[in-house]
Amino acid sequence: MGNIVEVKGVRKVYRMGQEKIVALDNVDLEVEEGKYCCLLGTSGSGKSTLLNMMAGLEKPTKGSILIKNYPVEKMTENQLAVFRQKFIGFVFQSYNLLPSLTALENVTMPLMFKGVPAKVRKKRALKMLKAVGLEKRVNHKPSEMSGGQQQRVSIARSFINNPQILFADEPTGNLDTSTTEEVMKLIIDLAEEHNQTLIIVTHDVEIADFAHKIVHMRDGNIEKIQENNNRREINYEGIL
Ligand code: ADP
Ligand code: MG
Repeated sequence: MGNIVEVKGVRKVYRMGQEKIVALDNVDLEVEEGKYCCLLGTSGSGKSTLLNMMAGLEKPTKGSILIKNYPVEKMTENQLAVFRQKFIGFVFQSYNLLPSLTALENVTMPLMFKGVPAKVRKKRALKMLKAVGLEKRVNHKPSEMSGGQQQRVSIARSFINNPQILFADEPTGNLDTSTTEEVMKLIIDLAEEHNQTLIIVTHDVEIADFAHKIVHMRDGNIEKIQENNNRREINYEGIL
């Protein structure tokens, strides 16, 4: 299969008053469709900057980013909004759920923007919540759920549009070890089922170990790209 993401000569410089911060120096990266790619590195190495640029949330200072052969850095905000709705899902460290809405309502949100009829929205959201093991929590609000449960709601929300690429920035950063494992398995399992591409930022080598490709980042550069031939297998016992 071909590359779904191509990053070419990308540089990102932030200006803080007089100071210039080189968040990304000169980055080239290719990600094959249907694979799990992990951006691994210590805090400040440029992982989130690279992820945000691939997702079209920020523009590079220099270089280009092709997603499905579309140059995302050239798109307007409107084009990007449509593009994300069609092809991209997000999972954040802090879940980003709307606090006043129930799990079910949070998961249906992306479909409302798409104009999907209410009945269909509900049916699909219930199916997704079941897939993440939360069928008994559909009417709970975020404050009435644990961190792991909230992240599972956000995973259900991110997969409901059947995105071709899922971006996740430290998705288990707020979770304990056993919940981390559970949430990672869930993301990988859902993505493999529909041949979706995963790009996940982490500083946790255990999470990187599941990936097909591990991109080691340091000081705004890619230090090494590791094809992970001995990737850790998912142990399906006891999930869900
Ligand atoms: P990571 O996700 O690996 O922790 P980031 O990509 O967030 O790293 O940041 C890389 C570098 O760019 C850091 O030195 C950070 O302080 C800087 N940086 C990130 N975002 C901004 C911003 N909006 N303005 C100024 N500097 C930033
Ligand atoms: Mg970060």
